[in-house]
Amino acid sequence: MLIVMHHKATDEDIQRVKDTIERLGYRPVVIPGAERTAIGIIGNQGWVDDTPFQELPGIREVIHVTKPYKLVSRDFHPEDTMVRLADDIEIGSGRSFTIIAGPCAVESREQMFKVANALSETGIRLLRGGAFKPRTSPHSFQGLREEGLRILAEVKAATGLKVVTEVMNPEHVEVVEDVADILQIGARNMQNYDLLIEVGKAKKPVLLKRGLAATVDEWLSSAEYILVQGSVEVILCERGIRTYERATRNTADLSVIPLIKEVSHLPVIFDPSHATGKRSLVRPMALASVMAGADGVMIEVHPEPDRALSDAGQSIDLQSFREIYQALNKLWEFKRNNL
Ligand code: PEP
Ligand code: MN
Repeated sequence: MLIVMHHKATDEDIQRVKDTIERLGYRPVVIPGAERTAIGIIGNQGWVDDTPFQELPGIREVIHVTKPYKLVSRDFHPEDTMVRLADDIEIGSGRSFTIIAGPCAVESREQMFKVANALSETGIRLLRGGAFKPRTSPHSFQGLREEGLRILAEVKAATGLKVVTEVMNPEHVEVVEDVADILQIGARNMQNYDLLIEVGKAKKPVLLKRGLAATVDEWLSSAEYILVQGSVEVILCERGIRTYERATRNTADLSVIPLIKEVSHLPVIFDPSHATGKRSLVRPMALASVMAGADGVMIEVHPEPDRALSDAGQSIDLQSFREIYQALNKLWEFKRNNL
């Protein structure tokens, strides 16, 4: 339930509503807005009787929220949420288009320095690279794990790039958080609720990928797990979903981007690499995501794509990336100024 206060409501009116919510055994979440304050109720497992609120002063409207998520919804938070990593790195502000790039996996010190230096020269501020890799087969390269984190820390110190890297296990959140500027939750772990709770307690923003076959409600409910812990900095990432179609690795669901913008305040980015699985499709789909309203993209780039230890077929080389980077910025500027 969401209680929308009158714009003239006093602090006492707000406190009275909060006390009443607590007396009923629920948790109040105060949502300040430009024009009015709203107070959300969380912790209820069913319909909340609004009778105790009917006589309280200062209340404009009581809205029953029947969705499985609340804190992530626009009903609870009408303004867009922005994740700020630095003065000039704002994800979801509508003022810039965020481009995250880097290899699927951290493979070696040499590989990471090569790619990081080249990306940094291109203008990239956010570097991706998995140290802990969730692989479908146990026989595939599993990532360098702690050694991969050490390499990321070294690259970060040398280049000043911000690091996005995956955490797969609740017990690893602390060590990954030491290096990561954004904690990535991979598609396979989107419904690992213990992990979501742990990253929700962390001090770093979370990039939550959509599950392999997750519905929007399931995806947003997972984001809700993180927000319930007190964190508000969640970035959603559409990375394609499993359908009957095998011509592409996954089916890129671009329609979900404007849809998410309608129902949630969280920033949403697109991963054309995993969404298609084919390097030739990365550029057209990345460009399409700009028009769909994405706040950014995450693209897999490798200095020698065919030799990548994971996701070689969708990884692009540095020169192709530079061209995509320029095209994306050009299209973003055009859209911003003209559409
Ligand atoms: C990745 O980003 O390398 C990755 C494993 O992606 P996903 O979880 O979307 O499959
Ligand atoms: Mn990958």
